[in-house]
Amino acid sequence: MKIVLSDILKGKKRIALSGHVRPDGDCVGSSMGLYLYLTEQFPEIEVDLYLEKIPASFSIISRTEEIRHTLSEETAYDLFICLDCGDEQRLGPFAPLLRQAAHTVCIDHHVSNDAFAELNYIRPEASSTSELVYTLLEDEKISKACAEALYMGIAHDTGVFQYSCTSPETMEAAAQLLRKGIDGSEIIEKTYFEKTYIQNQILGRALLESMLVLEKQVVVSVVSRKEMEFFEAVPSDLEGIVAQLRQTKGVEVAIFLHETDTREYKVSLRSKGKVNVSSIAQYFGGGGHVRAAGVTMKGSAHDVINNLLRQITLQLKRGIEEKDRNCYGKWNSERIQRKRIHIP
Ligand code: 5GP
Ligand code: MN
Repeated sequence: MKIVLSDILKGKKRIALSGHVRPDGDCVGSSMGLYLYLTEQFPEIEVDLYLEKIPASFSIISRTEEIRHTLSEETAYDLFICLDCGDEQRLGPFAPLLRQAAHTVCIDHHVSNDAFAELNYIRPEASSTSELVYTLLEDEKISKACAEALYMGIAHDTGVFQYSCTSPETMEAAAQLLRKGIDGSEIIEKTYFEKTYIQNQILGRALLESMLVLEKQVVVSVVSRKEMEFFEAVPSDLEGIVAQLRQTKGVEVAIFLHETDTREYKVSLRSKGKVNVSSIAQYFGGGGHVRAAGVTMKGSAHDVINNLLRQITLQLKRGIEEKDRNCYGKWNSERIQRKRIHIP
């Protein structure tokens, strides 16, 4: 059901907004876009936005310094709007906002979203939550600052208007936002393509250490905590690595793991279309989209990868022989030996 903003705002004095943990471009773009619109158009309503720390490059968006990173004492809002978040758990430290608000709304485009709020506006076919937010706003009331935020979100979740989720409606929304006088190419350059030296180094490392498995249909790479410490990288520095892996000619699926704790990995999955990675992520407790999904899994990297490969094999239904299925372990040990020789 499409929601009508003026209806859900009726009689509300205090509103909280939030999105998923480790906020990405669409999460920040959609929540900042709505935050800016609400505070500009409804000054009588108190609006607070809660998100975990955002990547430094996103501070190009106006008023990101107003984002709250910790919960305040008073978490019982009249209305809570959850953006770009597929399930309650993904709200992380801000989940109490959902539980304690008098009314709740969810705006999202994850196919795995199980409609956990009171009112749900979920469109898996939409490119991004930012595009959905755009459809809820009155065009003539969208400020330049709001347009910049929404444009960033749309650009990020479409891989700069390239992924198959980019529809004519997406391009129309982006065109309208550009008409607000924003510098679209600067937003894309500064928030999407520009990388710090550290980000490029860890990307290089992940590409160098990547391996092809399942008859070269899957590319896998792992970054350990030790490597992250060595390169002084933080999790948001890893953004974009899995997208680059997916570009590998001939592969159907890219798997990227980074170690978050002892025997715990954050998994990013990307597909070119044959494999539904959302259903694989959901099988292990995560979620996402058909071609881009994620999950946190326990165990050694080897176990995590083998468990994922088993599910991918089931989908590919290619009757891959057992010996090929086990090539990860063999390849990995050879790789470690080569590393010792070549990198002192
Ligand atoms: P990424 O691999 O970039 O972290 O995430 C890809 C997509 O999957 C994003 O849309 C993200 O919101 C979703 N996603 C990533 N990790 C999780 C997770 O642990 N649970 C759920 N439900 N979705 C996830
Ligand atoms: Mn999104």
